[in-house]
Amino acid sequence: MSEGFIVPKELEDKNNLIGGVWSNASSGKTFEVRSPVSGEILATVPKCDSADVDKAVEAARRTRDTFKSTPVAKRIALLRRIDEIILERKETIAKVLTMEQGKPYSREALPEVEESAENIRLNAQDIIRLESPVLPIPDPDKRSISFREGIGVMAAITPWNFPTVIPSEYIGPALAVGNPVVLKPASTTPLSAILMTHCIQDALDELEFPKGIFSLITGPGASIGSYLVAHPGVDVIGFTGESVTGEAICHKAGLKPTLMECGGNGPQIVCNDANLKEAAIAAAYGCFFNSGQVCVATERILVHKSVHDEFLDLILGEVKKWKLGDPMKEETSMGPLNNEPTALKTETHLKDASEKGAKILCGGQRESGWPTNLYFPPTVIDGVTRDMLLNKEETFGPVAPIIAFENDEEAVEIANETGYGLQMAVFTSSLKRCFYYMERLRTGNLVINDTTCWWGTLNPPFGGGGGTKSGHGLLGGHWALEDLTYLKSIVIDTSKVL
Ligand code: NDP
Repeated sequence: MSEGFIVPKELEDKNNLIGGVWSNASSGKTFEVRSPVSGEILATVPKCDSADVDKAVEAARRTRDTFKSTPVAKRIALLRRIDEIILERKETIAKVLTMEQGKPYSREALPEVEESAENIRLNAQDIIRLESPVLPIPDPDKRSISFREGIGVMAAITPWNFPTVIPSEYIGPALAVGNPVVLKPASTTPLSAILMTHCIQDALDELEFPKGIFSLITGPGASIGSYLVAHPGVDVIGFTGESVTGEAICHKAGLKPTLMECGGNGPQIVCNDANLKEAAIAAAYGCFFNSGQVCVATERILVHKSVHDEFLDLILGEVKKWKLGDPMKEETSMGPLNNEPTALKTETHLKDASEKGAKILCGGQRESGWPTNLYFPPTVIDGVTRDMLLNKEETFGPVAPIIAFENDEEAVEIANETGYGLQMAVFTSSLKRCFYYMERLRTGNLVINDTTCWWGTLNPPFGGGGGTKSGHGLLGGHWALEDLTYLKSIVIDTSKVL
């Protein structure tokens, strides 16, 4: 085990929370969670089946009407207490997060857990300001009022790249509006979510909420995730993950409301009037933060041909500052990839590009000499073209693919042609160009003069651009609260009441 790391005792047994009770799977089956850092088994967790899903959903369902009607002040107190408990336990949670996910402890895991608490804190602030309309109507005796009501039981299905922050993006707003939650975390990283669930259940118990408002179940997404979204007791679905999984979920969900946060494909566009040094720093960050396993990673760098050579020198200089190694060590800036399919996909995309003529300038293959085969160094590849998988698909590895473009029109075309549209970036010093790109890039979020991987706070709205493969619905601020509620409108005939 990595030096000084001890698996917390909470993870020894009964790792699922079903209806407020810490439990094993009813079948008794389990699966192992293995560390990409050390290769060791960190814990075994329940391999749930449909019977466990039924129990969790039924328990949530029993609390649905009472939880929805809980005074908002009590729900705010709950969110505040969860925030406090997560912060009290943040080091323990973050160490587990690093060991199961692979990201550096000080630079990424600890800030992630802090941000998870912050997200829940923000929802406690947002819910108090959730407005609804009162509109004039022609009939003088009648009054129309509308108010927002929690939709009901929420299934939250989350990925492995941000094992606590992504669950928090659903848990916070759901609890704020009074929706009970059944969380299904990713199978390679359930442990930090289980520790966060301890924080949630402890807060629920302290404040004497009924059992069943929150459940966490583990097991294969393809079976229990799929069963959960189609379950008649689930009213609304929040999903973050791959676009193809998102599509499968939407098919299963039928008419249920869905909040879908799916894949992205950058890019960062570097214009010929950009500050190239800053653009290179931002691109390296966007490509190598969390080893490139981020939905808003800089999956592609589009560089104007006239500044291509200068930019290439600068980014190769930046790469030297990214140190691959043991993510528990302070000096490490990049840990191992989380899992074998991601490493394999990265290799496949690089092989495809090399065979079609692109040139790997550094990195390019797994490093040996580490405890697992998942340590992949920062990689720069030049001469990438539009027909290559690196351009067409999401790679999700620590790769900086450079694509040269002729003019702004071509840059927009390349940026938009993949069908993804989550978060893009443009580097330019021209206000005219800012507007050119703002008005043409098909993306939910655009960052001008900073990395695609810019993530300040969950206050502004965040989500895929309309009609893209990146999903629909918004996280952040009051938008997630709106996605998880419905507007109920009432008309009162005042002439018929006292
Ligand atoms: P996956 O889509 O593979 O898995 C996400 C979750 O869905 C996991 O819990 C998984 O369970 C579950 N799942 C898998 N198949 C099904 C199914 N048929 N029905 C229901 N649930 C299912 O994504 P990854 O975990 O690989 O995450 C990486 C992806 O997430 C990338 O594409 C990335 O861009 C995207 N992402 C998007 C973000 C955004 O905000 N837009 C943010 C972060 C990531 P199991 O683990 O058991 O397979």
